[in-house]
Amino acid sequence: MLKCPKCGAKLIEKQYGSSLEIKCTKCDYSVVATNISLIHEDETIYDIYLLNGNIINQKVIMLVKNIFNISSNEALKLVKSGKDIKLYSGNAVEVKSLKEKLNNLNLKFKIVPDHNW
Ligand SMILES: [Zn+2]
Repeated sequence: MLKCPKCGAKLIEKQYGSSLEIKCTKCDYSVVATNISLIHEDETIYDIYLLNGNIINQKVIMLVKNIFNISSNEALKLVKSGKDIKLYSGNAVEVKSLKEKLNNLNLKFKIVPDHNW
């Protein structure tokens, strides 16, 4: 059981969409956590795909190369194959970090099922 750091009473959790509020049952103590704590409880396995039609540049090649641990040439072939490439399957946390990388590189990708973290 979680205890209030201020008064030692029991804490309760309330969920609002993707935020979690932790509140004391006695005093005015409360903390709002966004995503972070809840994402670890998401046990869904997500598949992340790099979509066909992305601009092919050095960064994309490097990314694909590192994910699959293959040579630059093989990565280039894969990216040029004209197919959607399944990059990774993993839990919400793992997929989130890859998603951020792909977003930073402005790449088109999809995640199945929808990953709302
Ligand atoms: Zn309290």
